[in-house]
Amino acid sequence: MSIYGDYIKSVIRTVPDWPQQGVNFRDITPLLQNSSAFRKLIDSFVHRYQDMELDAIAAIDARGFIIGAPVAYELGCSFVPVRKKGKLPFRTISETYTLEYGQAEVELHSDAFRQGDRILIMDDLIATGGTMLAAAKLITRSGGQVVETATIIDLPEIGGSARIREAGFGVFAVCS
Ligand code: AMP
Repeated sequence: MSIYGDYIKSVIRTVPDWPQQGVNFRDITPLLQNSSAFRKLIDSFVHRYQDMELDAIAAIDARGFIIGAPVAYELGCSFVPVRKKGKLPFRTISETYTLEYGQAEVELHSDAFRQGDRILIMDDLIATGGTMLAAAKLITRSGGQVVETATIIDLPEIGGSARIREAGFGVFAVCS
């Protein structure tokens, strides 16, 4: 957790029963509207990763992009989008994963990394961990080295971060 974790958490809104009954949706738009909070959030990631010699940040479609791009800019490394199926125009590799109801697929351009590149994966939230794990598998398959996975919010009661750690990947969450 970041030293700003409690503050960042205080500016994230929980919307009950959205998009469906029983889901407590963590809405980060109040955090994005608050320039001081958004700066502290980005600084938290930059502080953690500034000495880790990253080659690229792989950010997950779509809220991962909001945090991944400014962190890549600050660290002076590449930005690579991990996108939902059908959005990338060039040759892709893909990974299918299971959702509570049905399946989803994430894609990566086949030339996104060089062999051995040091990659940080970023997304806004970890629930079941399925999305982050699918991205980590894609990056490993494409020859990248996953240095860590990073998120704004971890929901540890759902078990995703434990699953990701069991698969051998580190997890950094600003708040939980
Ligand atoms: P999961 O694959 O189950 O870890 O889900 C993580 C992905 O789904 C992230 O890209 C989140 O943006 C989104 N997500 C899942 N649960 C929530 C939630 N309660 N609030 C906001 N976003 C969520």
